[in-house]
Amino acid sequence: MMVIGLDCAAPQLVFDRYRDAMPNLSALMDRGTWGNLRSSEPPITVPAWTCMVSGRDAGELGLYGFRNRVAGETRLRLAGGGDVRVKRVWDWLGEHGYRVAPLFVPLTSPPTPVHGQMVSGFMWPGGDAPWCFPRGLETEIADRFGPYRADVENFRANDLDRIYQDIVMMTEQHLDIAEHLWKEKQPDFMMLVEIGVDRFHHAFWRHIDPDHPRHEAGNRWKHLGREYYRLLDTRIGRLCALGDDDTTVLVVSDHGARAMHGGFCINEWLVRKGYLVLREPPGAVSPLDHGVVDWKRTKAWAEGGYYARVFLNVAGREPNGAIQPTEVLTYRDRLRDELNNAKDDEGNRVPTSVRVPEEHYRQARGFPPDLMVYFDDLKLRAIGSIGGGRIIVTENDTGPDSCNHDWDGIFVMSGGGTLGRGRVEGAEIYDVTPTILGAFGVPRPPDILGRDWGSGLGASETDP
Ligand SMILES: [Zn+2]
Repeated sequence: MMVIGLDCAAPQLVFDRYRDAMPNLSALMDRGTWGNLRSSEPPITVPAWTCMVSGRDAGELGLYGFRNRVAGETRLRLAGGGDVRVKRVWDWLGEHGYRVAPLFVPLTSPPTPVHGQMVSGFMWPGGDAPWCFPRGLETEIADRFGPYRADVENFRANDLDRIYQDIVMMTEQHLDIAEHLWKEKQPDFMMLVEIGVDRFHHAFWRHIDPDHPRHEAGNRWKHLGREYYRLLDTRIGRLCALGDDDTTVLVVSDHGARAMHGGFCINEWLVRKGYLVLREPPGAVSPLDHGVVDWKRTKAWAEGGYYARVFLNVAGREPNGAIQPTEVLTYRDRLRDELNNAKDDEGNRVPTSVRVPEEHYRQARGFPPDLMVYFDDLKLRAIGSIGGGRIIVTENDTGPDSCNHDWDGIFVMSGGGTLGRGRVEGAEIYDVTPTILGAFGVPRPPDILGRDWGSGLGASETDP
């Protein structure tokens, strides 16, 4: 089985706008089963891929985004492979004797021993840090394909020609490595994740999407969407050609993408509501400086990103907690109500979805936020910076970016005796692990989420 992960690949592009530029993927769709793949909560690369390959939700994983809290600190810490404390699909397959090759999957840095080979994903720190299991594979790959390109540097920037060149070189290298390993190591299960798709969307979305509010017709990058998706398709075709009739191909993405219309300045909002108190106001728009927060008078603060994570400042839990543990539920529910009625600068309601991790997940491990907030169904990002004087802004605060993640990614499954059902509805990211295990005849662990598509996607299927 080959699992080809396209980070952030969006259904409206793959299934619709660029389908004619993707004859190989289109052929897989014609023969196979495909549709939207509902992402994790939150729909973010970390934790989404780990949810996909473990059958666990983000709460069970204790991973609420790229960065997470640790005890005794208010600041977040970048997640790493060491934060994954559950087995992933390749571990179970390896235990049953199958040779596996997870390549470039997020949260595989540092690499861990597998029954086969592993190449770390895009959060590899570089330098002398290990990026392959076994380590001898590093020289084998670098000798053939040059220094490892784990990611595109500084992809939220304005030098778009450089960014595109870097994305293409990285994508080509990753697919070269995958082809090489498939041929040389003959894994039973290979899974690669191409992060270039995500980088491409963040850098180029407003240029390729005519519906983006800041799209300029006839811009010089407009054609790159079709060009890049064509490149992906060519490489998918080359990879598939290495398989045979018994090879199941599964193309998946961890979430989709949509135009970003702006952001909701969550900390600015918390200041105005009196929950967040600063000892001095910032002179210019800047990230929330925890050093100037008046913690003794602060009830709540937030971290921005695709969604807002709101934290209460609780005595005994936070270093300078200002509310008592007995008051947590009162403050949380009051904040939830106020966020459900949040208004923009003109006094209009901003649609929000507010979640309580303990209510939403099967478990809320690690250091969950007290509230998770999505703004306008992901049309708006959560802006953590402060000092702009506005609640709604049009630009991202961490560099040029015109793309937000969206709830639905994609899946296309074909070959290897899988049934061709055409387009189906209702598939979820958690279904991927039980489906892979089912295809290999490996018993499904009792406590994971998801359904095995091999045993039927149910009554909602439609004709292609
Ligand atoms: Zn992603």
